[in-house]
Amino acid sequence: MSDSSQLLVRRIKNGTVIDHIESPRALLVLNILNITGQEGNVITVALNVPSIKHEKKDIIKVENKFLEKKETDKLALIAPKATINIIKNYNLIEKRRIQLPDRIIGFFKCPNLKCITNTEEGLKSKIEIMDKITLRLKCQYCARSITTNELINYQ
Ligand SMILES: [Zn+2]
Repeated sequence: MSDSSQLLVRRIKNGTVIDHIESPRALLVLNILNITGQEGNVITVALNVPSIKHEKKDIIKVENKFLEKKETDKLALIAPKATINIIKNYNLIEKRRIQLPDRIIGFFKCPNLKCITNTEEGLKSKIEIMDKITLRLKCQYCARSITTNELINYQ
């Protein structure tokens, strides 16, 4: 993290820092991770932080919560460049990149209004990642091809 972004958000003792989120997707990231703030822990969100690598980025710091790999892998479609830093007692104990899973179950709504996953209560969506480079997606139920933008805009 660069010095300027260090100043913006305070260091945390324990928790998870999600860095290098494409601006301005931090709020979407919180949504997908199901972090609402109701849990009561301190959550810092910084939008449009100047960055050297990319033009700007978003940062999220979630105190006293260690996000697991299976949780952060859900971010693959919306923040593929993000890095996940697990902090314990002010030390970085784990740094990981997001890996694209083969399919994402139950997090995104299929953009096809007539899809059974949108009409049947309790049925979980299954979005298959057909191509991990071009991010070509497909709903496993209605077989519709979906772009990441379509998927994100529909949520
Ligand atoms: Zn579908």
